[in-house]
Amino acid sequence: MGTGLMSASAPRGVAILGSTGSIGTTALRVLERQHDRFRVAALTAFNNAALLAEQVARFKPAFVGIVRNGSEPHADWRVGADCLVDAARRDDVDIVINAVVGAAGLDATLAALARGKRVALANKETLVMAGALVTDACAAGGGEIVPVDSEHSAILQCITGRPGVEVSRVIITASGGPFRQWSPEQLEQATLDDALRHPTWRMGRKITVDCATLANKALEVIEAHFLFGLPYDRIEVVVHPQSVVHSFVEFIDGSVLAQIGVPSMELPVLYALTHPDRIADSGVPRFDPVSTSPLTFEPLRAEQFPAFALGVAAGRRGGGAPAVFNAANEAAVELFLAGRIRFGDIGVAIASALESLGHRSGETREAVLSADAAARQHVQERFG
Ligand code: NAD
Ligand code: MG
Repeated sequence: MGTGLMSASAPRGVAILGSTGSIGTTALRVLERQHDRFRVAALTAFNNAALLAEQVARFKPAFVGIVRNGSEPHADWRVGADCLVDAARRDDVDIVINAVVGAAGLDATLAALARGKRVALANKETLVMAGALVTDACAAGGGEIVPVDSEHSAILQCITGRPGVEVSRVIITASGGPFRQWSPEQLEQATLDDALRHPTWRMGRKITVDCATLANKALEVIEAHFLFGLPYDRIEVVVHPQSVVHSFVEFIDGSVLAQIGVPSMELPVLYALTHPDRIADSGVPRFDPVSTSPLTFEPLRAEQFPAFALGVAAGRRGGGAPAVFNAANEAAVELFLAGRIRFGDIGVAIASALESLGHRSGETREAVLSADAAARQHVQERFG
């Protein structure tokens, strides 16, 4: 009796995987403003129980999961790595915001897609490591992947409502990171603090280091390949230090569209929830052309940042190579964050892993996970 109408207008249930992180907390800020449209149904975090408990008190989700429980027990929280998948497949969840960092996000994305849900994907690593599996799961389960990454959100916003065949090229923008203008001699001396000082974005530590090595742009090229079905020779990158133009799309007649806005993840997160619609009163920061002027563009200095070319080559190679690239990068970044290797060693470790393991298969989930594990072990043994 009237339930159809009720459910059509009822707030949509959202799960946030990685709610305590940079994207997770941004997502909660966005959702708080849109509580008449969206309801927080599930939250998960890795081990930050204190912040998670604050979020739970505020948003009252039906499901709470934590991978590693600290000292304080919460009887009604699900504990362990499975909590991500449990949250992602719940019946009261329509949209899964996957804001976990790294390969740990894979199974939850697959589970949500298999149940026909929308995945608002920030966790680009899992699309890189298992692109074909994820897109297959999407097609088979009737789910939907909507990117949260600002560049891919920009591309989606430019092409929505237009058939893909009209796109001739995408140009992904890159801030260039903190070392954009550093000489090779300066890069030799780059410290962890230097790498963590990103000029335009405040993000988690892993992606911040990825922006310094430009591995992040290689991940994003591969991400674009799988999200938009574009061959690699139609995906380009340009450095744009102000991070205001979030990417360009060129159409077959030579016309180019760009999506523009201040560097804030609020809009990409919100758009991943509302796509293809837009809503008023979004609360996102407004754009002012004069105050963001001038906007500049320059080529990427690939010879200073080997992780970029290694990643794109791994993407082109396909099979298990992107999984090896991703896992070697994750393992090397962990070592760098722990002060165990130097900045320049990240690229060396990735190259070494790809040389030994780049031929691995990526056809099944097991093959991908095996390539991932082998690459981590390789980096740990030789560089750890
Ligand atoms: P973050 O480190 O700030 O947060 C990561 C979140 O995931 C935390 O809630 C943490 O508790 C959880 N987590 C970490 N390891 C986990 C594991 N093994 N199992 C389960 N949960 C785990 O990272 P972030 O900056 O928010 O980035 C998250 C993802 O979004 C990454 O894939 C990143 O590349 C992508 N992304 C981030 C930004 C940004 O502005 N921060 C922009 C674009 C894309
Ligand atoms: Mg990005």
